[in-house]
Amino acid sequence: MKLSLFFLSVTLCFQTYGFEIDKRVVARTEEFDAKIVTRRLMDLESVDSYDGKYFKIVYKKNKEAIRFDENDGNIQLKAATTYYHLNKARRYFVEVLNSDFVKSLPKTIIRIDILNKYSELGHFANDNLDPQFNNALSIPTGLGYPERGIKPWNNEIWFRPSKRIHVSELSSSNSEELQMKTIFKRYRNQTHMVSFKNFLSKLLLGDAWSGGDSTVSNVMRLAGTSLFIEGIYRSTGIAMELFKQKYYRLDSALVPEVIYHEYAHVALSDYLAITHSTPVNEGLADYFAGKIANSKELATRIKDYNLFSGKKVRKKQMYRHQFESQDYANADFVFGLLYETEKVIGNKGPVMLYNVRTMIETDSSIRNQLLEGILASCRQYCPIPGLNHIQLLKLFHYRGI
Ligand SMILES: [Zn+2]
Repeated sequence: MKLSLFFLSVTLCFQTYGFEIDKRVVARTEEFDAKIVTRRLMDLESVDSYDGKYFKIVYKKNKEAIRFDENDGNIQLKAATTYYHLNKARRYFVEVLNSDFVKSLPKTIIRIDILNKYSELGHFANDNLDPQFNNALSIPTGLGYPERGIKPWNNEIWFRPSKRIHVSELSSSNSEELQMKTIFKRYRNQTHMVSFKNFLSKLLLGDAWSGGDSTVSNVMRLAGTSLFIEGIYRSTGIAMELFKQKYYRLDSALVPEVIYHEYAHVALSDYLAITHSTPVNEGLADYFAGKIANSKELATRIKDYNLFSGKKVRKKQMYRHQFESQDYANADFVFGLLYETEKVIGNKGPVMLYNVRTMIETDSSIRNQLLEGILASCRQYCPIPGLNHIQLLKLFHYRGI
């Protein structure tokens, strides 16, 4: 009797407070460099593995969480880094945006180093089918396939292992122009979470990854400084020169902004389908990733180099009809637009922009549905709705929308 009471009280304590542990994770410094530092992981439900109240980190297709005594330092670092930053992202949607949807989400399974493609019917595509590297992916809830023994699953986030790919391997063509087009296409098929500029910056600035702690920092720095590449890639001649003999590689589970971006897709998924990469979906996910990162340094770079309104961008980008197409899902036009919208609205901006998802659909256009959604959301959330409405119309008009 005494014993069972003891267990009962231990269990209750556990549920109320959760378990905590200090681990080494990749995090940003004030200067936006990435360093491996010690951080406290909260809300754990297990005393010996990365199994928490909100996230469970597993290796590849495993069911059990990765253990705290896992020998492979790389897996250990990825598990701790994703666990830490996912909880930070969740807290933002729950505490700052007061999202009832995020509060209601069941525990999310996070897969590290998974190579399989996603299959709507089978959860995991066949092991030998086109293994995936250098990206991350959010997975929608699936019904499963009981006849084949495949159980239903909830939202998941998958992080691929990194692999050094020579640019020439991305293309089979000798023609340089064709090569560029093939690379862009391949990139868009493979990756939807890093903007096109990030991808190019890695090509242009070279392969910064060669093992050891300091190189983690280099790769992060590239991801952070990428916005300025936007200007370069439009003059393709320069980009083409720099394409030669360059490598591409990304360890998505170690980049905080990639982790935030993927979680933002989940937090938007009550209205915007996770499976579709559209300019509006990607722009919103990028915007919230930036908010969660909450970095002065990043904010300055966005302010200076986004094409919509960047102070240091010589020729600002006017709206073009092509921006509606999926090919432009990684262009930062929508991101810049949302960023400028927030500046008009002020503190209420993020809540107002999160509410926009309820007014639009997965395939919404920028020109019609997104703008209407912003204006409708403004009527509910803007501090001075009448004035802010006019300010927003002026802003949209200014960029030719
Ligand atoms: Zn995305």
